[in-house]
Amino acid sequence: MADLFIDGAWTDPVEGGRRTIHCPADGSLVATVSEGTRADTEAAIAAARRAFDEGPWPLTPARERGRLLLRVADLLAREKKEFARAESLDTGKRLVESEYDLDDVIACFRYFGGIAGTDAGRVVDTGRDDAVSQIVYEPLGVCGLITPWNYPLLQTSWKVAPALAAGNTFVLKPSELTPSTAIMLMRTLDEAGLPAGVANLVLGAGPQAGAPLAEHPAVDMVSFTGGLATGRRVMAAAAATVKRVALELGGKNPNIVFADADFETAVDFALTAVFLHSGQVCSAGARLLVEDSLHDAFVDEVVRRAERIRLGGPFDPEAQTGPLISAEHLAKVEDYVAAGLAEGAVLRCGGGRPDAPDLAGGHYYRPTVLDGCRRDMRVVREESFGPVLTVERFSGEDEAVELGNDTDYGLAGAVWTTDAGRARRVAARLRHGTVWINDYHPYVPQAEWGGFKQSGIGRELGPTGLDEYREIKHIWQNIRPRPQRWFPDFPH
Ligand code: NAD
Repeated sequence: MADLFIDGAWTDPVEGGRRTIHCPADGSLVATVSEGTRADTEAAIAAARRAFDEGPWPLTPARERGRLLLRVADLLAREKKEFARAESLDTGKRLVESEYDLDDVIACFRYFGGIAGTDAGRVVDTGRDDAVSQIVYEPLGVCGLITPWNYPLLQTSWKVAPALAAGNTFVLKPSELTPSTAIMLMRTLDEAGLPAGVANLVLGAGPQAGAPLAEHPAVDMVSFTGGLATGRRVMAAAAATVKRVALELGGKNPNIVFADADFETAVDFALTAVFLHSGQVCSAGARLLVEDSLHDAFVDEVVRRAERIRLGGPFDPEAQTGPLISAEHLAKVEDYVAAGLAEGAVLRCGGGRPDAPDLAGGHYYRPTVLDGCRRDMRVVREESFGPVLTVERFSGEDEAVELGNDTDYGLAGAVWTTDAGRARRVAARLRHGTVWINDYHPYVPQAEWGGFKQSGIGRELGPTGLDEYREIKHIWQNIRPRPQRWFPDFPH
């Protein structure tokens, strides 16, 4: 089936490539999809360029664009079950998690649909009677949107919704591992009435189908969510044409627990923070920092509960977390644990694949706790992106902050304490884009999401998330144009 979406039509790739998608939970065949190459992405860019330069979309009143996004949200709500099922088959995540993701996707389209056109810019006082000055927002042009496999449709919605709200056209390149819901989204956008060429989809591997989105001079902006190494590559490639760049990269997120924390709640969230979706979450609380005096009791309880986490496939109602995305990723997680042990970490639980025969066909890894970790260990500094919790100790507020900030990343973190003043003090000092106090993972589309330091550039969600996809233009108008008599003094 033709499943590249270019200029409003379903198309086969120029070179005719195909890729099979397998469910990470059991290896079963999910789909066979197009494998695009550079030529397909270039065709999609050309279509998006035409739709921007000639089409009605960028000049469509923002409120009207917003209404279309609200229609998209309604259609997604109607088809939530089908979308969630497809997401679970591609990612292996539990169906209930995919359903939560879909709720968030729908909320994202509603949010940007709702704010489109509510801010029409501002008039600036020129101090003169012969000129008016105005700040207006304009779309950027053609946006290249590149997304990862861990939250495929959610990460896509965080880009597609604001890009459309602002009046852009786009080419989307989802992860080659999880393309299904991106294909379905194109059908939904088409059904909602988006003009041809505004939304384009290419599928395929990053270096082939994705790279042109960073390199091509006809693309005005590239918005990328994925790993740090790829993000650096995208940024370097975008430099050649000085295009706008938004990067949402990884995180090595400290979850800081003080001795006065509510024990039960902090343990509960320490588990959720790192083992949700088997740790394949950019904001995962994979780095537990525990105050000295609490350390032993806290870690014992985390380990006791981690050992009992039930692994299983997307449709197993008893499963509490699922598989890793691929055999390659599983091998990477195994490497990180081996490196941690070689550097002196103490294995408290997990540390390998499960024995259960019914899980043998999937890429499962047991929830793992490594105690006795130090900040210089590779497993502490780099993102394993798996169900691996590293534990370090600290003594007092200053050391907690110092350790929590000793990372190249700056995406998220949390602090657990019943001392309200300390909670605010620590939150203020942590150099991370999101800091949770006595909580982990919640977010709302009204609040910006994005990283400090090497976790990224720019913000997604929130009102300024929309600004990532807009130009802010100053228009000065002389309303009484007449010959200039004072400078420079040309002969009249
Ligand atoms: P990845 O970097 O391997 O791939 C991301 C996307 O980039 C894929 O679509 C891939 O095909 C494409 N790509 C690969 N090489 C490319 C190239 N040379 N040019 C253009 N595109 C290219 O990341 P991943 O493994 O899919 O995702 C996991 C990573 O994503 C983790 O590091 C995670 O922290 C990060 N992430 C961050 C956030 C956030 O909000 N900050 C959210 C989700 C995931």
